[in-house]
Amino acid sequence: MNKNAPRILRTRPFSPQDLDPDALKTLRRLRELGFTAYLVGGGVRDLLLGRRPKDFDISTDARPEELHELFRNCRIIGRRFRLAHMLFAGGKIIEVATFRAAPPQQGKAGALILDDNAFGTPESDAFRRDFTVNGLFYDAAQNAVIDYVGGLEDLEKRLLRTIGAPKVRFGEDPVRILRGVKFAARLGLNIDPDCLAAMKSERWRLRDAAIPRLLEELLRMMLGGGAARSLTLMQDLGILDLLMPEVAAFMDAASESDRAQLMDLASALDARYEGQRETQTAVAWAVLFWPLYRNILTTLPRPPSIDELRQIAHLLVAAAARRLAIPKRDISTLVSILEGQVRYDPARPGKRSRIGRHPSFASLLDFSELRFEAHQISERKIEGWRQLRGDGGRKKRGRFRR
Ligand code: ATP
Ligand code: MG
Repeated sequence: MNKNAPRILRTRPFSPQDLDPDALKTLRRLRELGFTAYLVGGGVRDLLLGRRPKDFDISTDARPEELHELFRNCRIIGRRFRLAHMLFAGGKIIEVATFRAAPPQQGKAGALILDDNAFGTPESDAFRRDFTVNGLFYDAAQNAVIDYVGGLEDLEKRLLRTIGAPKVRFGEDPVRILRGVKFAARLGLNIDPDCLAAMKSERWRLRDAAIPRLLEELLRMMLGGGAARSLTLMQDLGILDLLMPEVAAFMDAASESDRAQLMDLASALDARYEGQRETQTAVAWAVLFWPLYRNILTTLPRPPSIDELRQIAHLLVAAAARRLAIPKRDISTLVSILEGQVRYDPARPGKRSRIGRHPSFASLLDFSELRFEAHQISERKIEGWRQLRGDGGRKKRGRFRR
């Protein structure tokens, strides 16, 4: 373990207004009670980068039982590693974790970490984190950033690097490879060459990773502001081929303009994130599948029937649905979005008086809006889509809601 003193940045690194008042309150209370408590992880990183943090996590030397006893708004969660959730108005949750020890096998390549339960010091807690930029502490009382792992320097250099040897850290938890893609893409960081090489060479380990975590990281890439860059990076590293081989094959074989269509949709998702507009998961899936779907339709000898439109969409997404255990509800919305783009296209002849009643109509329209934002459909056409909402939307709206 590193015996060097941490680097401490004392200049006002960001304004206190940027901090969440409830997180500040919790930090102050813990201090008043005689504990050490820091803001940690992604919140500190994002503040230093001038970004709006998604959440504020706290690490402390108070034990979960103590937190439970001392804070009325505290719930203890987790079986394997117990964490405290501090509950605030509006459903806000501040996560408070006790400093953890380094996992026992740390340092042995290929050892998957199954037990990381022991409590530790701030230093050990910093070193068990994944990337240097995620290993910073912020001490609100001193208004100082405490850096045991070299994260400040890497942030200045805009460099993503694992804490410790990348092969070892990816062996302990291969999902860190996807997290690396996500952070590099979302934050526009360069990846350290050794780290990048290990992301590629260790990617096969993702086959052993827990599927819900893969699904979650993939969605965070798509919906967390780094969709376009994540796709390119995963394709370059051979990771997309493991997670979404159909999309990887498409990107490989597609014409320049087909590939641009996928990338423009992904960029439109990123623009929504920057504009603080939320998008549902089914629409993110549609970004990945729509260019493939459209491509298949162009190869058909005659225009498909409505049944065929649906069947083709089902067949296209079935393998990914199984591979990543995508929830049934998302799949059914996704299929409706795909077939609906064609079936209800305002330029296509046919009756559509009942379309506003379609259970997935809002998602369908939202994906059309995204295509409009990606300059893939005209202003006139999107107006046509919006008018469809006007028709059926008035009639018995609630009935088809889930
Ligand atoms: P986001 O903005 O996407 O939430 P984050 O950095 O806050 O990013 P979280 O998944 O919320 O990421 O995790 C919070 C912190 O916990 C991270 O910043 C990191 O320090 C640590 N962490 C999370 N997952 C891992 C992991 N697999 N291995 C090691 N440390 C991790
Ligand atoms: Mg977070």
